[in-house]
Amino acid sequence: MQRIGLLTSGGDAPGMNAAIRAVVRKSIYHGLEPVGVKHGYTGLITGEFVEMNLGSVADIIHRGGTILQTARCEEFLLETGRVKALKNLRNAGLEGLVIIGGDGSFRGAVALTKLGFPVVGVPASIDNDIAGTDYAIGFDTAVNTVVDAINKIRDTATSHERIFVIEVMGRRSGYIALSAGLAGGAESILIPEIQVDLEDVLARLHRGKARGKLHSIIVVAEGFASGIDLARDLKDKSGMEIRVTILGHIQRGGTPTAQDRVMASLLGARAVDLLMNKETGKMVGMVAGEIVAQDIASALQQGKRLDLEMCKLANILAI
Ligand code: ADP
Repeated sequence: MQRIGLLTSGGDAPGMNAAIRAVVRKSIYHGLEPVGVKHGYTGLITGEFVEMNLGSVADIIHRGGTILQTARCEEFLLETGRVKALKNLRNAGLEGLVIIGGDGSFRGAVALTKLGFPVVGVPASIDNDIAGTDYAIGFDTAVNTVVDAINKIRDTATSHERIFVIEVMGRRSGYIALSAGLAGGAESILIPEIQVDLEDVLARLHRGKARGKLHSIIVVAEGFASGIDLARDLKDKSGMEIRVTILGHIQRGGTPTAQDRVMASLLGARAVDLLMNKETGKMVGMVAGEIVAQDIASALQQGKRLDLEMCKLANILAI
């Protein structure tokens, strides 16, 4: 294998740049020629290829976002789009592709594998909802951003003795809410994986108030309910005044934490090893503290399960 491509796809995540840097520099170290593809799968179809060298990835390890840009590409969902992509990959002399992205991007990776093109996936998603790995690049930064926001909101919540609902990202996954809620000492954490009765949330608020709590913070993943709807329903049931903060896209940006940079470097470098060893159709991941490689299609089939023990603990500690 001489020339390999790399792209970032789907939702951006802090640490994607560190992964790009690792893929480019590790492949050059092994004498390969790395080629960046701009705008994810869209760039494969439109042929946006850029030769990468050691300097192309200088000064990016600390930057959020992705220098290759990312996109969601409808055309790649169709066989015709993927065949165009394959033709462009072959015309550019590429023999393998590193795909840095989330589970949607990994489904695209599986589709390319089925056309006979060698790919390796590197998991990156602030939601941490990718099967086959305990950890996805960007998650730690997003959680730290949310915890920082909780700390700030807690100051005002305590001063005014208020109840706050903080809506965080996670359409189908409660990982951000759970980790940030636990780290931020939230009184209630509401996530899409677990049904909770609003009466229980209210009971917690009342218990807290009865024992002299000056404030309450409820962290809700957007996939459970919108923060505005939740606050309205709680207010309708209790008459209590409740403030809402929707953190939104600030959770995607920012300088990646050291953990995200380290993970991105390890996972990106391992992806290059896999391509060189012709272990393709695989994703790299961190499982039980080890960097591992496994078949993307079977990992996707297994799905990702939330740590229910951590949910229980969060409830116990929030009492
Ligand atoms: P993420 O990778 O962050 O989960 P998306 O779910 O938006 O983001 O997926 C990114 C892109 O991956 C999509 O825009 C599409 O081009 C491609 N993709 C997703 N699912 C499939 C699929 N089943 N087959 C082929 N390509 C797919």
